[in-house]
Amino acid sequence: MIHPDQNRKASLLLIYTGGTIGMRQDPATQTLRPFDFSQILEEVPELRKFAYRIDSYAFDPIIDSSDVEPALWQRLAELIKEKYRQYDGFVILHGTDTMAYSASALSFMLENLAKPVIFTGSQLPIGIPRTDGRENLVSAVEIAAAKDSEGHATVPEVCIYFDNMLMRGNRACKVSSDNFTAFRSMNLPPLAEAGISIKYNSALIIRPSDWDSDLTIHTGLDTRVSILKIHPGITPHVVRNILCGEETRAVIMETYGCGNAPSKDWFINIVRQAAASGKILVNVTQCLAGTVDMHLYSNGKTLLDAGVVSGYDSTTESALGKLFFLLGQTDDNMTVKELLNRNFRGEISK
Ligand code: ASP
Repeated sequence: MIHPDQNRKASLLLIYTGGTIGMRQDPATQTLRPFDFSQILEEVPELRKFAYRIDSYAFDPIIDSSDVEPALWQRLAELIKEKYRQYDGFVILHGTDTMAYSASALSFMLENLAKPVIFTGSQLPIGIPRTDGRENLVSAVEIAAAKDSEGHATVPEVCIYFDNMLMRGNRACKVSSDNFTAFRSMNLPPLAEAGISIKYNSALIIRPSDWDSDLTIHTGLDTRVSILKIHPGITPHVVRNILCGEETRAVIMETYGCGNAPSKDWFINIVRQAAASGKILVNVTQCLAGTVDMHLYSNGKTLLDAGVVSGYDSTTESALGKLFFLLGQTDDNMTVKELLNRNFRGEISK
């Protein structure tokens, strides 16, 4: 069936939060700083060749993404909700440093999403001849406007587009600080790859059960989460401070391999103590690829028995966003522990 609106010009909202893509060198300090957004559209006249209506919205202030706080995610979710009916898709220009955190958090905060929300940015500022920003932006725009034969969005998900690859936002990690291939999605193939044409991996793309149901946003985040990266030589002092911190409701434990940690008594006793006091301890792997399986080795099984829950093949960025979201839904840590096993937005293979 051809949707009656199908021949209508696609309309997109380009949201600029900051990042290298829009930075210029400050002559006084020789460092890169964000500058006025209107110049980005001048730098990318290619965008005018699309038969789309592209409006833009710049955050104030525009920031280096290492300054991103959950308040920015809340503003993004509210802005998307406010403009949801007016646009077919959203492209968010964002610094690469925390893009995977922001895309992960937004994926949980936006429920019943039926339109694309595509994060992109660049490793070189848009004004530099060899910039990767131009291609990233132009393709992200094309993906955000893409529709299927029924007039529905081709990719109604929160994604990151970077260096010819469209990745589910809550599956991507920044893997390089200086390569154009800055992001990878190690546990899930790309949702699309851009070559001469953009090839979509339709089987992997998540679509809403009801295209017409309203977007629901969850802006109540609870950030009482810490991250503990296990390493040889880690001390009881460090482990106790992080796992038993009074302010902490949940800790993401970045463990070795498929979910292993030291089996020393002092370590396991602190883990038991934290779990017994009601803390939520989530096990994710330090490896770039693969999953946690606490049944495989006795060191992993000891963690499971001590009350640690599996983060499956989640990235740390995604586990953080999921915990902020779930803790914001309920004060009951037992319920959160159960919900962590549920796949909400394709963030885990389960
Ligand atoms: N520091 C920059 C940022 O994240 C890096 C970038 O955009 O690539 O905002």
